[in-house]
Amino acid sequence: MSDFFQKTIKEINQGLKKRSFSALDIAESFIKEIEKNNDFIFSLLSFNREEVISQAKEIDKEIARKKDIPILSGIPSAIKDNILMKGGKTTAGSKMLENYIAPYDATVIKKIKKAGSIIIGKANMDEFAMGSSTEHSAYGVTRNPLNTDLVPGGSSGGSAAAVAANFSCFALGSDTGGSIRQPASFCGLVGLKPTYGAVSRYGLIAMASSLDQIGPLTKNVEDAKIVFKAISGKDKMDSTSADYTFKDSDKDVKNFRIGIPEEYFKKGIDKNVEEKIEEAIVAAEKEGFKIKRISLPYTEYALPVYYIISPSEISANLARYDGLRYGLSKEGKDLSERYFNSRKDGLGVEVKRRISLGSYTLSAGYYDAYYKKAQQARSLIINDFKEAFQEVDLILAPTSPTLPFKIGEKAKDPLAMYLSDIFTAGVNIAGLPAISLPCGKVGNLSVGMQVIGSYFKESDIFKAAEYFEKIWKK
Ligand code: GLN
Repeated sequence: MSDFFQKTIKEINQGLKKRSFSALDIAESFIKEIEKNNDFIFSLLSFNREEVISQAKEIDKEIARKKDIPILSGIPSAIKDNILMKGGKTTAGSKMLENYIAPYDATVIKKIKKAGSIIIGKANMDEFAMGSSTEHSAYGVTRNPLNTDLVPGGSSGGSAAAVAANFSCFALGSDTGGSIRQPASFCGLVGLKPTYGAVSRYGLIAMASSLDQIGPLTKNVEDAKIVFKAISGKDKMDSTSADYTFKDSDKDVKNFRIGIPEEYFKKGIDKNVEEKIEEAIVAAEKEGFKIKRISLPYTEYALPVYYIISPSEISANLARYDGLRYGLSKEGKDLSERYFNSRKDGLGVEVKRRISLGSYTLSAGYYDAYYKKAQQARSLIINDFKEAFQEVDLILAPTSPTLPFKIGEKAKDPLAMYLSDIFTAGVNIAGLPAISLPCGKVGNLSVGMQVIGSYFKESDIFKAAEYFEKIWKK
């Protein structure tokens, strides 16, 4: 029954309703792939066969009782391991939380469970979501299912690999500077970073709270829309969540004015990626889309701003991992030695680097020069986008400057790794929504294009992306 892997969520839902197949059939076909390949791909950190089977049987009973079933019924999902699921381990890819059991469900988990999804397991990730390759997980490296010598991207690399390897139909990831879009791009998938506030962050282990958003990774745009619809909306447990209900766009797709920011093509982009991006833009133009070259002049500051603001927030958020309140706890002769020993053994090198950077940028004497200046530059970047969205409705830009790289290639070079976020971080800084979808191929590897929209314009993004999906090579 391997054809489940090609089916959309809607098609599976209809098939279940017509009893063409059962939820158990679906579960078994995904389980087969997990059991065959997860040891090598290492996408899932946890997987409980019996639990999945028993949930599928429950769904089948429900189908037998009722005519209508919610849209995600029996749809297997994988969840990034920084999202809390009551009673289960939530490690955030860190030794620090090796034995941490979540005391409650994140809001997104409650929502997808209510919509019927079968959560197949927790997905590997860079420790505390810091990284672009999933090599910074304390539990091992995830491989890219398209070419297993390559990284799947990060930090939601386990989530992306789960979908690409047919371990789950969709996955949830989190995106602080690109961590949904970049792995989606590396694994040939669709990944949405929603508008800041569109999805509740309650139950997401915080990395940088003013940038973090949860979103879906899927095989097609329609599935991303369905999952986004299921998880978005106001939540009283997250005061930054917005009162917003998703509605499909009824605009004529060809009326969208599309902007191409020149700064995204200036430097740092690989030739073969640029070529595919340009081809995709030409294809859109040939279809009759109105394409306009625009400028986002402060683009070059997006990455430096991101690498000041995010570590600053990280250093504050991760102060709670003191070895007393959560997870790993080491002995010491006094309190400060206990802190020191727990952090020394519990946290990996990249996390320590970010905490050090952030403590520095927030420290007295340097705060004005770094943190405050970065916040001022953040306003300029936001303003760039606001002005651009006066002229255009959507912006197209590459997701990643490179194709997926080799495992080990950048692991020891933090700066090279940070450069992976050059085209994605600006969107988080501005709090905007953006989707990444495949727009061309180099060999069997995929190139991802971002469709960036204005605040809460996910509906426009989906509308255009559904069209582009048909004209661009997967
Ligand atoms: N790669 C970026 C970083 O390491 C983005 C991480 C993310 O979006 N969670 O910070």
